[in-house]
Amino acid sequence: NSGGGVIQNFRVNNLLIDKDKNDRIIGVRGTKRNKDYEFFASLTIGAGGVNCPVSKTIITDIYKENFIDKEHWSSAFRQYWKGIKGVNYEKGAIEFHYVDGVIPGYFWIFPIGNEMCNVGLGITLKDLKNKKKKLKELQKYIIEERFSERFENASLMEGSGKSWQLPLGSPRKSRLKPRRMFANGCLLIGDSASLVDPFTGEGIGNALLSAKIAIKHYTKNKDNFGDYNGEEYQKDVWNNLGKELTNSFKIQK
Ligand SMILES: Cc1cc2nc3c(=O)[nH]c(=O)nc-3n(C[C@H](O)[C@H](O)[C@H](O)COP(=O)(O)OP(=O)(O)OC[C@H]3O[C@@H](n4cnc5c(N)ncnc54)[C@H](O)[C@@H]3O)c2cc1C
Repeated sequence: NSGGGVIQNFRVNNLLIDKDKNDRIIGVRGTKRNKDYEFFASLTIGAGGVNCPVSKTIITDIYKENFIDKEHWSSAFRQYWKGIKGVNYEKGAIEFHYVDGVIPGYFWIFPIGNEMCNVGLGITLKDLKNKKKKLKELQKYIIEERFSERFENASLMEGSGKSWQLPLGSPRKSRLKPRRMFANGCLLIGDSASLVDPFTGEGIGNALLSAKIAIKHYTKNKDNFGDYNGEEYQKDVWNNLGKELTNSFKIQK
């Protein structure tokens, strides 16, 4: 009821941690235009994406757990190509190809309008480690050796190549299943909570859903949001997404 606000161009640098209260997260410290600020809150929610400083701090520094598990972390590369043969531009279907020499990584093609296609490749870090070629070279190999006919008259949009990382929501062997998404006084949502679908690489829907669930749990326990409430949040997220993420993990494998 006391309102809220958005501060643009504010960079979170560290968490404020109360060591005397069981490492309770009590806020954030950050910078805007070279000036430092501190903000205190009854619950801090990490939503800073794949390299969120909130999730790095709680997972690595506080719980001494693994931030990047190579089996549950994908690397992806995409380019834009024009004029690929055999693409259904009207229906806009997405193609996934599982190509010998690249499996269990996958190659995709989907139209984005004006005869242009998003063409890319995704693979977990664990599987990439076993390949002799890196992502960009693997994509070149697929296009030139395996899909040469379809790319015969296609042209690459110069400068469109981009690589990125996807923190996957596939189930771990640990009790928590996905990666930890809470600490005392703190929750993580979206990529910060490692919730990207391991098969499709999609993370927007899961990010929005986790935010909705986080707010539900905060509303119920706003006076003293502790570890226990955080674990309840994580279980709730897994109850909602676990089946789909587990299926996607099986298909990915
Ligand atoms: C090229 C690409 C294509 C993708 N395509 C799809 C797709 O088609 N469909 C799909 O569902 N998903 C897709 N994804 C994945 C999707 O983008 C993410 O899963 C989703 O954006 C996660 O949302 P988020 O809010 O958790 O994180 P983000 O969208 O990454 O937002 C994090 C925000 O936190 C800010 N931030 C980071 N660090 C700090 C800091 N220290 N201080 C303050 N702010 C900070 C960032 O600037 C950013 O605004 C794609 C990802 C990429 C990279």
